[in-house]
Amino acid sequence: MNILVVGGAGYIGSHAVRALFQAGHAVRVFDSLEYGHAAAVPGGTLTVGDLADRDALELVLRANAIDAVMQFAAYTSVPESVTDPARYYKNNLVGSLNLLEAMRAVGCKKIVFSSTAAVYGIPDHVPILESSPKKPINPYGFTKLAVEHAMADYASAFGFGFAALRYFNACGAATDGSIGEDHRPETHLIPLILQVALGQRQNVAVFGTDYPTPDGTCIRDYIHVEDLADAHVRAIERLIPGQGMTYNVGTGSGFSVREVIDACRRVTGHPIAVVERPRRAGDPPALVASSDAIRRDLGWSPRFTTVEPIVASAWAWHSTHPNGFEG
Ligand code: UDP
Repeated sequence: MNILVVGGAGYIGSHAVRALFQAGHAVRVFDSLEYGHAAAVPGGTLTVGDLADRDALELVLRANAIDAVMQFAAYTSVPESVTDPARYYKNNLVGSLNLLEAMRAVGCKKIVFSSTAAVYGIPDHVPILESSPKKPINPYGFTKLAVEHAMADYASAFGFGFAALRYFNACGAATDGSIGEDHRPETHLIPLILQVALGQRQNVAVFGTDYPTPDGTCIRDYIHVEDLADAHVRAIERLIPGQGMTYNVGTGSGFSVREVIDACRRVTGHPIAVVERPRRAGDPPALVASSDAIRRDLGWSPRFTTVEPIVASAWAWHSTHPNGFEG
């Protein structure tokens, strides 16, 4: 298929682009480069443009005879979505609607969308099922849930086929070491810990040590970015007109913040100093996916099921690219 990857120069999108090429698809990337990196995508595949630019979207869809779209482009900072909600509603929601309208105008009706565990808010139970209550607790989660609803409405009204993939904690880097995570500013746990091992920061903060978990720190389901990319390829190849599929993408196993720090100590051989801090607002004690549905329906299963090999792949990237895509 001819596939447009919107946000394909970002962390997860760039790994999906590689997986699509490996599966034999033709790929075009559309990215504003506001947060993405041109160096993360193969030469000659990038069109620089913004989701707000409907004409540019239609042009790239038509010019490349696009059959299906993957939509990764979004702002992803939960705290910023709380302090500046309009920025999130405009880019994540209005931007995605713009994309759906551009697709409708050119007759392209297949889309795989990056959703998030944040649609569940603070879950009553783990593991979380796709049918669990959707109760976002921040604008970021609301924008993602709203796009899921919009896609379902486009499926009913216009025959779109869609997949919404609800990611848990994306992490790791390409196993060949060529691309990886480079967020500015960095807020995610594993890269922050590895910055300590690189001598770029003195310690890592542990946000909350009094959670109702075995060691008092938060539990998350860490899913390797290549396993996420594989889920996208499987989903886009199985889209059915007029129907939607919604899946959690996680391993089904949870690890605590302290367990992740210990895994980083083992992988890097660095002692990694820790400072204990109060809880971060809005952090649920535990987020773990039930991924039975995607395993059953798409034959997907994660290659990385524990934290240590995930950290090893991240370390291979960060230790050889201490300044990310800037070298
Ligand atoms: N976390 C932490 N210190 C940090 C960053 C994150 O203790 O400097 C914790 C955070 O509270 C959460 C987990 O690590 O329980 C994963 O956080 P991250 O920001 O990587 O992803 P999120 O779960 O927010 O999507």
